[in-house]
Amino acid sequence: MNEKDKFTALLNNTEVLKALSDAGVFIRDLKSGTALVSGTWKVIYDDFITKIKTGDFAKLIHPDDIEEMSIKMEEIVQGKERENIASFRVLQKDGIYKWIRFNGKGASYDSKGKPAYIIGCEVDISELKNAECRLIKSIQREQNHNDELELLRQIAASISASLDIDETVQRILDEVRKIIPYQTASLQLKKGEYLEVIGTTGFKDNESLKNMRFSINSAGSLNARAVNDRAPVLSGDVEKDFPDFMQPAEYMTIRSWMGIPLVVRGEVLGLMALDHSEKDFFGHHEEQLARLVGDHIAIALENALFHEKAYRMGIEDSLTGVGNRHRLQLEGRLLFETAIRSESPIGAAILDIDHFKEVNDNFGHDVGDIILKRIAGLCQSELRVTDLLVRFGGEEFLIIFPRTGLDEAYTVCERIRNCIAEQEHSELDRKVTVSIGLFSAVPRNSGAMANFIGLADKALYRSKTEGRNRTTASKEDL
Ligand code: GH3
Ligand code: MG
Ligand code: MG
Repeated sequence: MNEKDKFTALLNNTEVLKALSDAGVFIRDLKSGTALVSGTWKVIYDDFITKIKTGDFAKLIHPDDIEEMSIKMEEIVQGKERENIASFRVLQKDGIYKWIRFNGKGASYDSKGKPAYIIGCEVDISELKNAECRLIKSIQREQNHNDELELLRQIAASISASLDIDETVQRILDEVRKIIPYQTASLQLKKGEYLEVIGTTGFKDNESLKNMRFSINSAGSLNARAVNDRAPVLSGDVEKDFPDFMQPAEYMTIRSWMGIPLVVRGEVLGLMALDHSEKDFFGHHEEQLARLVGDHIAIALENALFHEKAYRMGIEDSLTGVGNRHRLQLEGRLLFETAIRSESPIGAAILDIDHFKEVNDNFGHDVGDIILKRIAGLCQSELRVTDLLVRFGGEEFLIIFPRTGLDEAYTVCERIRNCIAEQEHSELDRKVTVSIGLFSAVPRNSGAMANFIGLADKALYRSKTEGRNRTTASKEDL
């Protein structure tokens, strides 16, 4: 027997055929419909040599793979292709699909070019496919992660770009929304035992929520927990987690809440609170993102606050807390420029405490300081926020009244003067009065502020010489 005959004889051996089937080999007789089926089909065929029934295979092949498999098979049957390769999934007894790689060839072609047999091999490639899936998934994850990192980098850059506190707050809220799609949000600053809202977004009237306060001592409160634990707090159902949750607006019910404490060098600076009306809106992923930006936010906020403080120190009078001459130069000038442009009147008043030297001489300089502070506070409380009050000299204050004519400014000055004259001082045995000089007009040229102050000072001199505790309005022209 030659070598070739030996192998041909092998095919007469059932055991060999069984082993070939187990190894994935198949031989299909297209005329009779019988086949040596590969081990892949153990689930449907008891015998490895069997008659194939149409539809048997289709029952087990994954619906997404059937079309391609039938086309590839048909191409070989019709003689269009001599060989085809395809991958498909076959359902197993345990309900899991196994990936199979099919490689089939035609054999014994007739005169029309059609094969009598299809012979080939089916190999289980599930492990390979699973590894491939894992790889694709991890590449996608990596890609998403890279996109997210890039976005985080941009966000960090954007929120640190300004030193202005209001702008920084707005930037923080806007940028965070790019990665965590909240509906409403607020930034809160820790001030002693309170968290004070310094900015909000998404509400109908964001301004009115500013300065709202939450105690950090109220038991069970979500923001108190975030601040005290220095860790993010997530609630998918605030009513359940904290029944006293304060809904900030009637038109929206917050159901999901996430609070991220803003921590710099171990100190809690404040809190960022994100809200949503859907339950269970924020998850672990959002929390992770919030943690990542939280540190940047805290630092950006600290920088802006520090800058604001430094700026304020430069323009504030340290004793009374009102503006100083530097502030007058910065803001007063702007007010005068606006008045020139809009051709609107602007007033300037100088207020000088009467016989203040006596207060110092009789009660000491420290008491004098207390009185000075009190009078500054009284002035401030009688003014509009748009008016500018600065300490102009030792016990002299200057007030700029934008868009205010002489009569109106006079009324305000008199109100201030009366208010001071009526004030009791427990440190003294007397009341304290002030004299005021005032001028108001529509300014015409850039040097106007100095002229206005000069005229107000002259009017003040008249108040002093005419008996003090009075307001004199200058009748002079510019
Ligand atoms: P009048 O203005 O009514 O003419 O009398 P006066 O005693 O107030 O006189 P003047 O305005 O000239 O005096 C200013 C006094 O104000 C001198 C000083 O003792 C006091 N003074 C100025 N700055 C301060 C300050 O920062 N603290 C205290 N305690 N006193 C001050
Ligand atoms: Mg004086
Ligand atoms: Mg005085």
